[in-house]
Amino acid sequence: TSFDNAGLHPAMRENVKLAGYNVPTPIQQYVLPAIFKGYDVVACAQTGSGKTAAFLIPILSKLMGKAKKLAAYRGNPANMKEGERYRAEPLVLIVCPNRELATQIFDEARRFCYRTMLRPCVVYGGCPLREQIPLLEKGCDLLIATPGRLIDFMNRPALLTLKRLKYMVIDEADEMLHSDWENDLKQIMSGGDQEEGNITYLMFSATFPKNARDLAKEHLAHDHVRIR
Ligand code: AMP
Repeated sequence: TSFDNAGLHPAMRENVKLAGYNVPTPIQQYVLPAIFKGYDVVACAQTGSGKTAAFLIPILSKLMGKAKKLAAYRGNPANMKEGERYRAEPLVLIVCPNRELATQIFDEARRFCYRTMLRPCVVYGGCPLREQIPLLEKGCDLLIATPGRLIDFMNRPALLTLKRLKYMVIDEADEMLHSDWENDLKQIMSGGDQEEGNITYLMFSATFPKNARDLAKEHLAHDHVRIR
């Protein structure tokens, strides 16, 4: 098994090579095809297993086919009413527990988006909101966020909407559930387009306590794939 016959977009194949990844890790071997086939996925994954690339590679690879269209839509004045400012309408949302992890995911996303027109963006708590507003105003296809800050922005629909969301990734779900973010997470998972099947949900966690299983049960499709 290699990345060559994984059905990746040529730009993604190139960027995977540039990253120096030759052989998919075990979790990548199972998660990639499940995401390509469109399944919701629950995966038991530790840090260091290559879980970040396991979701970024197939999701971004799929978006690359329409990167030009997305870039044209993003910031196209024709889509704006007079006096209206641009707001971020990401297609992919990645929620994770802390700034360090958010930054790591962002760095990896940037590597995979190299020489494509896809735009990743990261927001987290602990720094002023106003510093991050310009990032969202430039538009983004893929938003990486910690829960508290994400909700701050979700409460400002002039800046961010999840209406166009196609993928929602919950990374280190158990960590977020530990940290009293259960209600925030529920609010976030209900915040996209709630029509059945419109959003692909991907959930990664090292452990699956009852509240993590409940969250998966409530939001993921019945035929989701479970990977240990
Ligand atoms: P993660 O589990 O996502 O935190 O990834 C752990 C580390 O493994 C990161 O530094 C990645 O850059 C690296 N990595 C991920 N996938 C591969 C791969 N297929 N081959 C080599 N390194 C990888």
